[in-house]
Amino acid sequence: MPMSPSYRDRLFPILPRVAARFGTPFHIYDETGIRETGRRLQQAFARLENFQEYFAVKALPNPRILQIIRDMGFGFDCSSIAELLLARQAGARGEALMFTSNNTSATEFQTALADGGSLLNLDDLSLVAKVPQMPETICFRYNPGPRRSGNSIIGNPVEAKYGVAHHQLIPAYQAAVARGARRFGLHTMLASNERNHTYMVQTVQMLLDVARWVSAELKIRFDFLNMGGGLGIPYHPDDAPFDLEAMATAVTGLLEDFGAEQGYVPRLCMESGRYMTGPHGVLVVTAINRKEIYRTYIGVDASMSALMRPAMYGAYHHIEVLGKTGDMPPQKVDVVGSLCENNDKFAIQRDLPPIDEGDLLVIQDTGAHGHAMGFNYNGKLRPKELLLCADGSVALIRRAETIDDYFATLEFEKQVLNP
Ligand SMILES: *Cc1c(COP(=O)(O)O)cnc(C)c1O
Repeated sequence: MPMSPSYRDRLFPILPRVAARFGTPFHIYDETGIRETGRRLQQAFARLENFQEYFAVKALPNPRILQIIRDMGFGFDCSSIAELLLARQAGARGEALMFTSNNTSATEFQTALADGGSLLNLDDLSLVAKVPQMPETICFRYNPGPRRSGNSIIGNPVEAKYGVAHHQLIPAYQAAVARGARRFGLHTMLASNERNHTYMVQTVQMLLDVARWVSAELKIRFDFLNMGGGLGIPYHPDDAPFDLEAMATAVTGLLEDFGAEQGYVPRLCMESGRYMTGPHGVLVVTAINRKEIYRTYIGVDASMSALMRPAMYGAYHHIEVLGKTGDMPPQKVDVVGSLCENNDKFAIQRDLPPIDEGDLLVIQDTGAHGHAMGFNYNGKLRPKELLLCADGSVALIRRAETIDDYFATLEFEKQVLNP
């Protein structure tokens, strides 16, 4: 099921007032739902002494959301300077930050090591020599290559640019030891939006096997294993939800077996983005045009600058029309934005209740990789973000972009070179 019945019940009755006060389009997120998912994650792994979720900041990089997540005791997975700064603004420091970059620059390393540092997750053997100073704890991202298959969003590991190849892993840890590293982590991230929990269990099994191998070769222990993110959510009403509890039980068992055999249990880390916030956001738009040509088009007041996933991945996002339920005979329509790209469509040949101009459409599951992925192509501006707070109030947590924002990076009369 897409957005939760609880969020729907709290949001839909107030939506006309919210839309009247703030104006569409907007993404609106649910504090209550995000907190519930966080608690569920903690409960699922309660048998492990120190499970740690590092929320993937790129999924929903808004300070108000990061504060809620920090408040639950979670850390942050960052992969850019801006994400590090956002996470530190939310109060995270040192080991509460994982820096999982790739193709990393010298300035990125400097920022990651400054201001209390962060856990460095290195993406390549060559980066060991480039870290300005080797921290005591170091992690490597592992790419299993042909040993595993990936999934459609992330792709086949052999073709993925990420991570250290299998045959370079021992040299990588060796090089880190030579530069002074004393504590170690192992990370991988192989799938995205994967709803089959056994894939994730196999990933942890793989990490444990690799940890056994590297430990035996180099006589080192692993402080932590990071299984990455990629837990899927049901975007389509027919999608089965990810079985979090089944995964956690199986993974806990694997770690306990490892503990019995090796005499210690590494800390388990996860860096979910989508699973934490995806279902707890919706994009609310107004129908502004209805066009009947070879197909019927419902034009809305947002475009793919507000939500890239349908255009980029052909992703399904469930849509409901406020106040119009299933009793009306549906009509087949394309729901479209105004960008001059024919893939600027939120839904293609979707059966929806008859839509009139002025109707509010609720495009669901936009809480992760939604607003964050937006861009300004064709001069389209990104919409505002709202938060439905736990006390029932609605707060503006990001204003809409303006034309002035769009022009802010242009025209520098004094920056001329006459070579
Ligand atoms: C994007 C990303 C995540 C989060 O992925 P989700 O599918 O949102 O869980 C986690 N780790 C890394 C390294 C990523 O790039």
